[in-house]
Amino acid sequence: MSRIVCKFGGSSVADHNQFLKIKKILQANPKRTVVVPSAPGKRNSQEAKLTDLLYLAHDMSQKKLALDGPFTLIRDRYLEIESNLGLNAGMAAALETFRKEIVEGASRDFVASRGEYLCGLLMAAFLGAEFIDPKDTIFFDKTGRIDPRTYEVLGARLADRKKLYVIPGFYGADVKGQIKTFSRGGSDISGAIAARAAKAELYENWTDVSGLLMADPRIVENPHPLDEVSYREIRELSYMGANVFHDEAIAPVRDAGIPINIRNTNRPDDPGTMIVSKLPAVTKYDIAGVAGKKNFSMFSLEKSMMNKEIGFARKMLGIFETKGVSIEHVPSSIDSMSVVVSSEEIGEKTEAVLEDIRRILEPDTIEVEGDLALIAVVGEGMAHQVGTAAKVFIALRDANVNVRIIDQGSSEFNIIIGVGHEDYEKAIRALYSAMMTPNPAYKG
Ligand code: ASP
Repeated sequence: MSRIVCKFGGSSVADHNQFLKIKKILQANPKRTVVVPSAPGKRNSQEAKLTDLLYLAHDMSQKKLALDGPFTLIRDRYLEIESNLGLNAGMAAALETFRKEIVEGASRDFVASRGEYLCGLLMAAFLGAEFIDPKDTIFFDKTGRIDPRTYEVLGARLADRKKLYVIPGFYGADVKGQIKTFSRGGSDISGAIAARAAKAELYENWTDVSGLLMADPRIVENPHPLDEVSYREIRELSYMGANVFHDEAIAPVRDAGIPINIRNTNRPDDPGTMIVSKLPAVTKYDIAGVAGKKNFSMFSLEKSMMNKEIGFARKMLGIFETKGVSIEHVPSSIDSMSVVVSSEEIGEKTEAVLEDIRRILEPDTIEVEGDLALIAVVGEGMAHQVGTAAKVFIALRDANVNVRIIDQGSSEFNIIIGVGHEDYEKAIRALYSAMMTPNPAYKG
C-alpha cells in the first residue's frame, strides 16, 4: 500500500484537543501511517513554545540555577495532555528522569530534543503506534549533513506498510551517537527524511495555516493563497523569509520526487498548498510570490583596471571565506565589485574584513552599507517572458523606491532587488500588486 507521511507542527500538538484532531485526520485516510510530531507549541500568544522553555532550562542548569520555574511549565504541559486524553504513557517517570539528566549536565541539543521525544512517546501511546527513536535511525555525518545510511536504516524500521509509526522530529544522532538537533523549525526536515525513507507517495506538512500565501500578510493585505508551487520556487521563497516551511526540508523529498502538501490541522478540508517538481505549462499567475528579508550589508569596492587583475574576485571572496561568512550576492561592474552578506553573520567581523580587503586588494575605495533589505520576485512562469523586468522596475519607480541592487539568476525564475530598510514594505506591496495580473492563457 502506498503511504503518506504526516508531520504535525508545534501548534498541531499544543494540547489534547489538537491530538484528537490528529487522530481524525489519520482516520480520514488510511494511507497516513507515518506521523512525525514537533514539540508542543504555544496555545496562546502569551505562552512560550516548549522548545524555548527547554533551552531556558538548559541555560539555567548551566548557571547552576534552580530549574523549577521552566521545568514545572514543561512538566505540566505533558501531564495535562496525558491526563486529558485519559492515557497512561508513563510521562511522570519520563519527566523525572529528564529532570535528573538536565541537572547532571545533559547537552543543549539533548535537552532541546526531549520536546519532540516526549511528545512522540505520548503520540505513539495515544495512537497505539510503534515509536521509533531518531537517535537510532537518523544520522548526521561529520559535516552535520544527513548521512545517506539514514535512508536504509530508517527505511528498514518503517518496513511494514500497514503499521502506524511515530517518529519524533527535530533530532538524530551525530557520528559519536550523541543527540544532535537540526536548526530551529527542523521537524520539517525530519518529516522530509521520513517521507523519503518510507518511500511515501506524499509528504503532508500539517500546520496552522491553509498553505502558503503569495506575500507576507503582515505587509500585503489579503494576499492570494498559493495552490501549487514548484520545489525551486518554494526553496527561494522560504529562504527569503516566507517561513511556513523549513528551506532545508526540500532536498530530501525533491531528490525522491515526493510532493509536499502544506495543510491546516484546524481546517482539514482545505486543500492547502501543493509543492511539486513540475508545474503545469500555464499557471494562473507568472509569479509564485514576493518575499523578502531585512538586515543585509553590502561591501562595495572600486579599483580602476580591476577587471585586468586575474584572481581579484577569488581573493575578495576568499577574505569572506576565511572569516567564515557566507555570501548572498556579488553584484559587479567593470571597475567595482560588491559583496552582500547577512548583517548578523558579519557582525563584529566587519572591521577585520575591511582591513583584509585594504591590505590584500588595495582598492581605490571601499565602503560598507548596512540596513539593506533583499526582495525576491519568484516564479517559473517569468522565465523566457518578455517584459517581466520592465513590470518590476516600473512598479518600483511608481512607488518611488530607490533600487540599490539588481540580480537576476540565469534561470530567470527569480529577480532579486536590494532596497533600503525604509523602502522595504512599500516595495513589497508595489511588486505584489504589479505582478498579480492573471495570465490570459490560463484556463483554470
Ligand atoms: N521544536 C523545534 C523548534 O521549535 C523544532 C520544530 O518545531 O520544528 O524549533
